[in-house]
Amino acid sequence: KATEVDVLVIGGGGAGLVSAITAAEKGANVLLIEKMPMLGGNTMISATGLTASDTKIQEEAGVTFTVQDHIDRTMKEGKDLPNLELVTILAENSNAGLEWLLSLGLEYKMHATEAWTLVPVEGHFGSLMIAAYRKEAEKYDNLEIRLNTKATELVMEDGKVVGAKVEGKDGEYTVKANAVILATGGLGNAPDVIAEYNPKYGGGTGTMSTAGATGDGIKMATAIGADVVDMEHHMMRPLATPGYWIRETVVSDEEIGGILVNKSAVRFTDETAHRWDMVPEVAKQDGGVAYVIFDADVAETGNGKAAIDKAKMISADTIEELATKLGLDPAALVATVEAYNNGEDEFGRKTMGKVTAAPFYGVQAEVASHFTMGGLAFNKNTEILDTNGNPIPGLYGVGEVLGGLYGAGRVYGNDTMGNVVFGKIAGENAVGK
Ligand code: ADP
Repeated sequence: KATEVDVLVIGGGGAGLVSAITAAEKGANVLLIEKMPMLGGNTMISATGLTASDTKIQEEAGVTFTVQDHIDRTMKEGKDLPNLELVTILAENSNAGLEWLLSLGLEYKMHATEAWTLVPVEGHFGSLMIAAYRKEAEKYDNLEIRLNTKATELVMEDGKVVGAKVEGKDGEYTVKANAVILATGGLGNAPDVIAEYNPKYGGGTGTMSTAGATGDGIKMATAIGADVVDMEHHMMRPLATPGYWIRETVVSDEEIGGILVNKSAVRFTDETAHRWDMVPEVAKQDGGVAYVIFDADVAETGNGKAAIDKAKMISADTIEELATKLGLDPAALVATVEAYNNGEDEFGRKTMGKVTAAPFYGVQAEVASHFTMGGLAFNKNTEILDTNGNPIPGLYGVGEVLGGLYGAGRVYGNDTMGNVVFGKIAGENAVGK
């Protein structure tokens, strides 16, 4: 079992796999460790849409989305907080990134409505992407993937990162490396860390995340002096259920209605508010939960149907029966729905479609982290920076563990593309030093 390698990659999601493959392609001896019993991380459960510019897929579809459009859109969505130099690298290399993915046998088509998004043709499955990466990784004898192996600490010598302490089936040991690439993902399963940087989002759950996303990379790197950026911005969803986040439109649609109630079967917020404002309202309720309630009209919509199916919503012919099935007080829920249907509202909801058409649907939901926008500060070589802005020798990063590309808001698909573009840069630079 190798304990000395050229490059140690920590984390086996999309970002870690791309950087490990790239470093192996350059001839380095690479060890990728993954703490879970399987590869994939949150990349596995992601829709893996891509944002890319000036690609042949867009050209063939007669759609114009230039590198400059890509940069502008990313800066605007992030409220001008993203790092322009890094965003430019992402946009300029997105076509090459797409071409590489196509060379691995993955297939993409245009998103139905968005000029900037390409989606996988075989449906929205990260598992296809991880399978393609795994197959590519298996080509290299100089790349070892070690599962069930968790990095616990970065090892420093003379101010340089020279490896990591790890814990595996065979106990604890140190892996020495010329360079370490952190690819440990985000904070989806780290409500404690989210709350530390962003108190109003405290109390979330890991409902939407895979188990490994506990912020280890951020903890290990900040412990040796790394800087973080944009940690106060976090993408949360207010209505998450195990394995599926209910689209907020099922309660925010002004015309057809739908409401949220708490454990007392009482409304507590303007359901049409932005989802990021809805998050702290849900988190504040008893047990941190809300009940999504809607009627047959909402059930007819695409998002309504999906919620019933994927969030396993309970149905009933009357509001009383629905309340009983959900464990809510029937009289209280009837009173709440009646008041709402009569237009009584103390939260400023402007128009209120009625909840009157049977059957009625309901389910318990809670807030959960969807994406970590902030993270470790890095530069164009994917070197991790210290709090003075200087690279920490020997330490690189890639993927959701990084901050700087998203600012206050992420363009969907920049993350998956970022894993490819910066994964390649990290792999190359880690070998170069
Ligand atoms: P990204 O999109 O950035 O690749 P993912 O969530 O897909 O993020 O992958 C991150 C991976 O890193 C997960 O599979 C997770 O289990 C793994 N991981 C997190 N912390 C550690 C750690 N301390 N040691 C090893 N692997 C880790």
